[in-house]
Amino acid sequence: MNYIRKDIKCPNCQYTIGLVIDKNQPSQQIYDDCPSCHRAIEMKMVVNPLTQSVNFSFDSVEDGLF
Ligand SMILES: [Zn+2]
Repeated sequence: MNYIRKDIKCPNCQYTIGLVIDKNQPSQQIYDDCPSCHRAIEMKMVVNPLTQSVNFSFDSVEDGLF
């Protein structure tokens, strides 16, 4: 098992959220709720197998909540 902890920032309110990531999965979709602004966060996580670095890309949230 190869778990790492990674802090991400909510794209809406910049609140820092700690995630535990399974590096055995090279690519996974993550869904979470921000504990601060309670908006759904959807992002794609990609692990680079060469550098073991983890990259996140946020899908732009345009659900017209306002
Ligand atoms: Zn937030």
